[in-house]
Amino acid sequence: MAEELTGYVYDIQKFSVHDGPGIRTTVFLKGCPLRCLWCHSPESQRFESDLAYMEMKCIGLEDCGLCAKACELGAITPGERKTSLSENKEIVVPVIDRQKCITCLKCAEACPSGAMYDPKKPMTVTEVLTAVAKDKKYYDKSGGGVTISGGEPMSQFPFTFALAKACHEEGISVALDTTGFAPTERFLEILPYVDLFLYDLKHLDSKSHQNFTGVPNELILENARTLVKAGGRFQVRFPMIPKLNATPENIRATAAFCVEIKEGIDVVQLLPYHKFGATKYDRLGIKYKLSNVEPPSDEFMQDALKLFQDMGLNAMIH
Ligand code: SF4
Ligand code: SF4
Repeated sequence: MAEELTGYVYDIQKFSVHDGPGIRTTVFLKGCPLRCLWCHSPESQRFESDLAYMEMKCIGLEDCGLCAKACELGAITPGERKTSLSENKEIVVPVIDRQKCITCLKCAEACPSGAMYDPKKPMTVTEVLTAVAKDKKYYDKSGGGVTISGGEPMSQFPFTFALAKACHEEGISVALDTTGFAPTERFLEILPYVDLFLYDLKHLDSKSHQNFTGVPNELILENARTLVKAGGRFQVRFPMIPKLNATPENIRATAAFCVEIKEGIDVVQLLPYHKFGATKYDRLGIKYKLSNVEPPSDEFMQDALKLFQDMGLNAMIH
């Protein structure tokens, strides 16, 4: 039975207003074939489990220390003494030696506060649907629904398909937040159950796309064309990263591509780069590669917006 399929979720955000129209519940699935340098959710990238540490929830090694006791490899040792981020007291924070760690997750199982954790959570379609359906009255009033996001949700295709279909059958509008990097036939299969694609255009030059995301862009562009021809509705998203893809040539090329698929586009969202995800890299012990990149200026964003609008596109800065 499709309802018994299990997917790997790393978060469910209720009352989300940034992932499509109206009030939405966003279901974030784990695992992505891309590695965008600017990714603001590194916990979404790997299909496997991760060991994450959130200092804000930690009781400290002196008062607790269960993680260090649970680690048979001695990969957790005392670090700095710091003022606790949640309580007004000093704690000794645990330091994870990522070279020694084998992600056995015994420390996460032992942690009483959830400070050590694995973001990967198995959930059935029924469990997710139940969580999502609770807010149906808000979706109906606001023109919202569910957004299936990631990671790349098409990488867990059987689960994503079953969830989209189940939501659709419950009368819940479905948005699919996708990189576009998945087989065309899968997109065509899921199309009847997707009311809106939140579709990223990251770079129009395939070589640059490969350099900045780890994969080329031909399939992504072709899927967009195919889906628009088949009646798919799009909210195009263009994350604008200074020096990487927010260059005059790429802004023009992206706008030109949007004109090509204009009949399927509801809106083009220009997303100025931000660094809000940088602390999530610390939680996983991964280096954030764009720490030297600053957000684009308001003037730069306004100029880019004007270019899109002058080409007849319904565009906005989001
Ligand atoms: S995941 Fe396992 S090996 Fe890694 S720090 Fe925790 S207990 Fe040690
Ligand atoms: S077990 Fe959890 S709360 Fe206790 S010291 Fe380790 S990370 Fe902090």
